[in-house]
Amino acid sequence: MPTYDPSRLPGLFAAEERRFVEARPRSRELFERARGSLLGGVPMHWMLKWAGGFPLFVHEAHGARFVDVDGIEYVDLCLGDTGAMTGHAPAPTVEAVGTQAANGITLMLPAEAAIGVGEDLVARFGLPSWQFALTATDANRFSIRIARHITGRPKILVHNHCYHGSVDETFAQLGADGTVVPRRGNVGPPVDPSATTRVVEFNDVEGLERELAHGDVAAVLCEPALTNVGIVLPEPGYHDALREITRRHRTLLIIDETHTICAGPGGFTRAHGLEPDMLVIGKPIAGGVPAATYGMTAEVGSELERRIELEDVDVGGIGGTLAGNALSLAAMHATLTEVLTPEAFERMIPLATRWTDGVRTVIERTGLPWHVTQLGCRAEYLFVEEVARTGAEAAAGMDHALERFMHLFALNRGVMLTPFHNMALMSPATTEADVDLHSDVFAEAVQTLLGARVFH
Ligand code: PMP
Repeated sequence: MPTYDPSRLPGLFAAEERRFVEARPRSRELFERARGSLLGGVPMHWMLKWAGGFPLFVHEAHGARFVDVDGIEYVDLCLGDTGAMTGHAPAPTVEAVGTQAANGITLMLPAEAAIGVGEDLVARFGLPSWQFALTATDANRFSIRIARHITGRPKILVHNHCYHGSVDETFAQLGADGTVVPRRGNVGPPVDPSATTRVVEFNDVEGLERELAHGDVAAVLCEPALTNVGIVLPEPGYHDALREITRRHRTLLIIDETHTICAGPGGFTRAHGLEPDMLVIGKPIAGGVPAATYGMTAEVGSELERRIELEDVDVGGIGGTLAGNALSLAAMHATLTEVLTPEAFERMIPLATRWTDGVRTVIERTGLPWHVTQLGCRAEYLFVEEVARTGAEAAAGMDHALERFMHLFALNRGVMLTPFHNMALMSPATTEADVDLHSDVFAEAVQTLLGARVFH
């Protein structure tokens, strides 16, 4: 089986790093200056993880492209890791934000746009009652609180290698012996996550049955397909089993559609007829303006209202002064009704198929033991031959050093992938030419990796 010689990788990476640094004196200069006032020289510490030695500083971004401060233009397949799945600065959102900003940003009172958003969400996802937060992390946290409050149970259950934002309970994974252990890199966990969380592998029906039988799980919080450790799709019947088992054990099912909205205008839930008790989505729903939402069934809504005293409603642990602010809601309204439309998905999904075909062709022609998976307008390749069925199998297909090489190689040739994994996302503004540029660059990267070996 053809493979690359890993001992050549540091040399190949160093050559790409030199090329990156030489072409970007202005980004480098700004990074040096930023070190005087920002921890690590970046506004968020994880921005240091970008390959290249320093992050690009962005001059402007429109549609599927952005220009850095050195004047270099890029096709953006990262799109703010879904926050900009709408394309950058979508016109309807920009206009709504401008108008609303000029007319009041936050009041702690509703405006009519809130109703339009609620009505869109009801029609889109099929759940009747909605509330707002500023991030998907918060929407998940609030949903978990509600589930605990209603069921009186202490724990939640998540999938191994899940990611739902910086939600304490979700920073748990399966150790080698199958017990729940803290996720690697977990900064300052408040308690041992095994006290709050049960973990099973994705697609593991038996595991679900076993763990929910303890009777202490308030909710299963899950992505309908894993998207944060490569893409892991549900096997036929998995969602039916998940729903049947959670109902039988009186455990609420919270579906996090923050990334899987890529599957269609109503996310994976609508595309596959899922029936969650609660649904969470953040990131792109306001075109990148901080906004998130969580919806619930009529039953969850009335159980919650029954258990909340008006006097305590502002200090119950669910809220946020700026949540549901007028600016976020205006941005959400414009984005949902004019940008993330069914027509947009009809454009975006075939582009992801084209991207997937481009990558698959190279993998097949070289015989490399890699694979690529598509979910709606998102696709991702993993460095392992077998299609991953679980988080652990997908995690085995990740290779930090190889990823950094692939990303930096692409960045140096005008294509940006999502950092930390090999994901590409299509926006309504992405073009076939953008996709084909990636296919060419991917082929060139693989050629470089394999050295003199030629495609057959
Ligand atoms: N849910 C999922 C599925 C996510 O992938 C993420 C972030 N990658 C979040 C929630 C959290 O989003 P945010 O960081 O915007 O709070």
